[in-house]
Amino acid sequence: MTAMLEVKDLEVAYGKIVAVKKISFSVEQGQVVSLIGTNGAGKTTTLRTISGLLRPNSGQINFMGQPIHHVPAHDIVSMGLAHSPEGRRIFPRLSVEENLLLGAFARNDTAAIRTDLDAAYALFPILGERRKQPAGTFSGGEQQMLAMGRAMMSKPKLLMLDEPSMGLSPIMMKVIMTTVTALQQQGTTILLVEQNAQAALKRADYGYVLEVGKIVLHGSGRELLVNDEVRKAYLGED
Ligand code: ATP
Repeated sequence: MTAMLEVKDLEVAYGKIVAVKKISFSVEQGQVVSLIGTNGAGKTTTLRTISGLLRPNSGQINFMGQPIHHVPAHDIVSMGLAHSPEGRRIFPRLSVEENLLLGAFARNDTAAIRTDLDAAYALFPILGERRKQPAGTFSGGEQQMLAMGRAMMSKPKLLMLDEPSMGLSPIMMKVIMTTVTALQQQGTTILLVEQNAQAALKRADYGYVLEVGKIVLHGSGRELLVNDEVRKAYLGED
């Protein structure tokens, strides 16, 4: 069986700075796969390249068996690949509902969009309670819920989350990470990028460790959680 997402020998540069150095990894249907690494490791660059927001120097990206590294970003969304970006990028002056509807920009099935709005409100009840409020009044955790809800509005087969736990309280982080598991149970495949290795590996079927643009370790989430190098470098243990 071919993987849902296959990244092969991907290299991405900003001018002369090579941020991603020939990395290869895959995400199987139904899995949660975590990509962990410290600041500047190349995680965001990798996700933005898969989404079509950056173009690689070389390498291949296949989604559902199709090469996508030359496909425009909006068509990649229509193919079923959604991206919840680092920093959330919500529109503060728009209401919660308007932000969510932006996630459905590539769809024209109005009745189904309504159903999916209700699904987003079921996933995160606070979004439903405050659907008319400007999103800028939300806390960081609520904005993260909104960013995830918006990404889900494109009905993705694969959801990519860039550092959803960033800046959140432990309680809010738990809510977000529990939702990752709930989405997986509902059938969404997830590529999770995190600096918080503990939270990300606990939920991952498989994980990859990225260091200065290279994958230096990979294994099941469970294996990586008990790996000595991971424990020292990412879990703060001696
Ligand atoms: P972070 O958690 O800080 O986002 P990251 O693992 O996502 O880290 P990237 O943001 O992908 O890392 O950055 C990888 C490398 O590319 C870093 O050395 C960074 O300085 C560099 N870089 C990122 N964006 C740009 C840019 N627009 N122009 C030049 N260099 C960049």
